[in-house]
Amino acid sequence: MVWVLEFIMLKNRPPIVVILGHVDHGKTTLLDYLRKSNVAAREAGGITQHIKSFQLTTDNRQPITFIDTPGHAAFSQMRSRGSLLADIAILVVAGGDGVMPQTKESIQFIKSAGISFIVAITKSDLPGFNADHVKTQLTESDVIVEDLGGEVPAVSVSAKNGEGIADLLETIDLLAGMNPPQADPQGVLEAVVLESRLDNHKGPLAAVVVRSGQLITGKHLYMDKNIGKVRALLDWEGRQLASAGPSLPVEILGLSTVPPVGSIISDHPVTAESTSSSLSAPLPTALNPLLNIVLKTDVLGSLEALSSALPTGVNMVSSGTGDVTESDVLQAKASSARIYGFNVKTSSSVVKLASVEKVPLSLHRVIYELLEDIESRISPVVTEVVTGRAQILAEFKIDKERVAGCKCTEGEFNKSDSLQLLRGGQTLGSTRFKSLRSGKSSVSHIKTGAEFGVVFSPYLDFKPGDNIIAVK
Ligand code: GDP
Repeated sequence: MVWVLEFIMLKNRPPIVVILGHVDHGKTTLLDYLRKSNVAAREAGGITQHIKSFQLTTDNRQPITFIDTPGHAAFSQMRSRGSLLADIAILVVAGGDGVMPQTKESIQFIKSAGISFIVAITKSDLPGFNADHVKTQLTESDVIVEDLGGEVPAVSVSAKNGEGIADLLETIDLLAGMNPPQADPQGVLEAVVLESRLDNHKGPLAAVVVRSGQLITGKHLYMDKNIGKVRALLDWEGRQLASAGPSLPVEILGLSTVPPVGSIISDHPVTAESTSSSLSAPLPTALNPLLNIVLKTDVLGSLEALSSALPTGVNMVSSGTGDVTESDVLQAKASSARIYGFNVKTSSSVVKLASVEKVPLSLHRVIYELLEDIESRISPVVTEVVTGRAQILAEFKIDKERVAGCKCTEGEFNKSDSLQLLRGGQTLGSTRFKSLRSGKSSVSHIKTGAEFGVVFSPYLDFKPGDNIIAVK
C-alpha cells in the first residue's frame, strides 16, 4: 500500500499573537506602541486606526500579526477565543502589581489552548518595578520562567520608553521559528470574526483574521447560510486590498448580516456550517462526565466565559442567569449535581432546601476560584493534556478504507495515543490509530511538521479541515 501525500500545500504564515493579562497591566499601551512602530504607519505620518488587529512589519523581521481582543472585567468569551486563534500569547504582568486574578485566568486560557507564550513584565520604567518578584509569583501558577530553570521566556518591557520591546519581538520570532505556523493559502477559507458592527453608511462590517484560504473581493461568503459577497477588503490602516491570505487582519464590507464575534466565515457553504460555532468550546467536551454541575451567573457574558472554560470531565446539566432558585436545587438533586453560583445570591429558603436535600452549593465572586473549586473535584487522572495536534488535509480511499492525510502541526503522535477528532473546537468523537504511515512505511511515531496518513478505529466521519489531537 503506497500513500502519496502530494496534495499538501501548507505554507508558512506570520504568527498570530494575542496579548492577555490583568486589567491595567498594559495590554492596550503595548499594542499601541507596537502599532506605531509599523514602518507603514511611520511613513503615513500617524495612523487612523481602522480595525484593532494589525500586522507588524518592521525593516528587518518577518511580519507578526497582533490581534486585539476586548479586555473588560472578568475574562470574556472573546479572550478565550483570542487565545485559541493565536499561535503565541504574551502574558502581560505589571512589574509593580505582580500576579493578579486575571493573570491567573489568562494562564488558564493559555494552557488550555496549548500555545507557546512569553511573559512580558510591563512598566519597567516605573519605580517599584520588580521583575524577580513577578517571576517568583508566577511559579505558584506553574509558570516557570527561563531564569528560574523553566522554559517560559520572560522579558521586561516599557511601552512608555520602548525598553525591552526589541527583545520581546525577537522572542516572538524565536518561538515562531521553533514551530513555524502554517496554513494552506489555496485551501477552503476560514476567517475568524474579531470585531463586528453595523455602520449606518457602510452596513454590516466585520474585522477578521484569515486562518486559511483567501478572502477575495467579489466572492460569496457563508456561515450557516450565505452572508453576502465581499464588496471591499480594507486593512487596519484603511488600505483597499483585492485579497487577504492567512494571518492577515482585514475588514470585510458587503456582508448582509453582522456576524457574531468568534464565528467563522468560509467561502464554502458546508465548511461554514460545521465550523460556525467552533470557537466556543476550547476544550474537548467530556465523554464520561465525572462532575455534574448546575451553573448560575449574574450575566450572560460570565455564563459564556465560564461554560467555555470548564475543564474536561464536567457536565453542565443546566445553566442560566439570575439567583439560585429552589428549582435549581431540585434539578441538581435529580442529577446528582453541585450548584455553582457566580456573582449571584441565594435566599435563605434556597440555602435551607439545599441543605435538606444535601445538594452542595458554592457561590463565588472570582471566576478562577470557581474554576479551581471545580477542578479540585475532578480526579487529576482524567485531566487531559494535549500532546499532539494535526490537521487533516485530505482524504482518500485505499482498500475500501478511508485514509486521512494529515500534517502534525504541534507536539507529536505515538501509535498508541488516544485521539480526539475536532471540527473547529467541537469534539466529534474519540478514536485511535488503526494504522499510521509516513510515506510508504508503517511508523509508530510522528513529529511536528511530519505528514502522515492514518486509518482510525473506531471509524469516525472526518473531513479535510478537521483536526486530531492526542490526549494523555
Ligand atoms: P490594559 O487594561 O491592560 O489594556 O492596560 P492599559 O494599556 O490601558 O494601561 C493601564 C495604565 O498603565 C495606563 O494608564 C497606561 O498609560 C499605563 N501603562 C501601560 N504600560 C505602561 C508602561 O510601560 N509604563 C508606564 N509608566 N505606564 C504604563
